[in-house]
Amino acid sequence: MSNSGEVQLSGGTSSNGAAAESSLFPTYARYPISLVKGEGSWLWDDKGNKYLDFMCGIAVTNLGHAPVKVKEKLKAQLDELWHVSNLFHIPGQEKAAALLTANTCADAVFFCNSGAEANEAAIKIARRYHQKVKGTGRYEIITFTQSFHGRTLATLTATGQDKVKDGFLPLPAGFKSVPLHDLPALEANINKDTAAIMIEMVQAEGGVYLVEPEYMKAVDQLCRKHGLLLIIDEVQTGMGRTGKLFAHEHYGIEPDIFTVAKGLGSGFPVGAMLGKGYLREAFTAGSHGSTFGGTPLSMAVVTATIESILEEQVPQRAAEMGQYLTERLNAELGALPFVKGIRGMGLLVGIECAEPVGDIVLAGQRRGLLFVTAGPNVIRLLPNLLVTKSEIDQAVSILAQLIHEHTAAAVNPM
Ligand SMILES: *Cc1c(COP(=O)(O)O)cnc(C)c1O
Repeated sequence: MSNSGEVQLSGGTSSNGAAAESSLFPTYARYPISLVKGEGSWLWDDKGNKYLDFMCGIAVTNLGHAPVKVKEKLKAQLDELWHVSNLFHIPGQEKAAALLTANTCADAVFFCNSGAEANEAAIKIARRYHQKVKGTGRYEIITFTQSFHGRTLATLTATGQDKVKDGFLPLPAGFKSVPLHDLPALEANINKDTAAIMIEMVQAEGGVYLVEPEYMKAVDQLCRKHGLLLIIDEVQTGMGRTGKLFAHEHYGIEPDIFTVAKGLGSGFPVGAMLGKGYLREAFTAGSHGSTFGGTPLSMAVVTATIESILEEQVPQRAAEMGQYLTERLNAELGALPFVKGIRGMGLLVGIECAEPVGDIVLAGQRRGLLFVTAGPNVIRLLPNLLVTKSEIDQAVSILAQLIHEHTAAAVNPM
């Protein structure tokens, strides 16, 4: 690590020290760092400080920053064609979709631009399937407490956290959240209006909570029994992150619909909703669409990303490195009273702590290690999937230092 001492953080204030009024809406509480360059596991800020990236833009840059093969395909496509309307055939879209369907349980793909849009498409196709194909009036989607599905009106309503709904009333009708792992509560909420159940295999934003395999089998069976569609939100867990191409593969189930976005474009904004063949009838021409969904530029990136993931056996690497990371964390931190639990799937790892961890994140930035939280008390680690053992060792050693300092400061406040 080049950051032997404390890093001087950049940004946030003007030269006279007063907070400058930004021309942006203040929707983000931003850290005082401006990152300007990235390569592999490393980022640099505008002051030349180097950071080990264990957040990856929140599970986006799964192949590291500026992966060479993807970059070259993007550059080549820049010389050919950037955008055409979906009124035309787009060969790159067919190719990317064929790669996705060949390697998953899905038969058809709809491309969009973000995770929220992918979930929005999932909600729409579920309703339309029941209403147009099945001829029932079913519309309701059951989701789970602590889930996260996005920030559009429908997806924030689907999200099982009140903080994303604050001030946005009235919310669209047709959503209910039930506690995860409470099967009777789920069953009690299924009625003649229920269209689908939507679930994350790991509640990532909500605190890195893994869905138990037995429970997931039961959820799948309930869907089959009641004729409900099973929608799995793989926006954060997809593209190899958990040690399989998609997290639901760990559970031996085949969802009717699943969504993907974050890791799909290696940092290029793109999302997708994937589904079984019988859903084709629900998304007939004119029923849904997106100007930017599946442009030649984004499809070049998606194809290169998937090819890299398959060729370099990235999911398997993520499984191995995830195991190494949790082993190292358990060895270094497992016995500390401050650490309540270490859990994860592949390289989506949470460290549950006894207290809020916001200041540990900031202290990490000063030491040159970037990571995020998941809820107030959970440290969330999301390194890229090609991370090395040596990089993991460096991150774990910094984390151990940070936690020791944090607990020492709490015992002995200055
Ligand atoms: C990030 C995320 C979303 C929203 O994705 P955006 O691209 O920000 O719209 C939805 N679901 C899950 C599980 C996510 O992690």
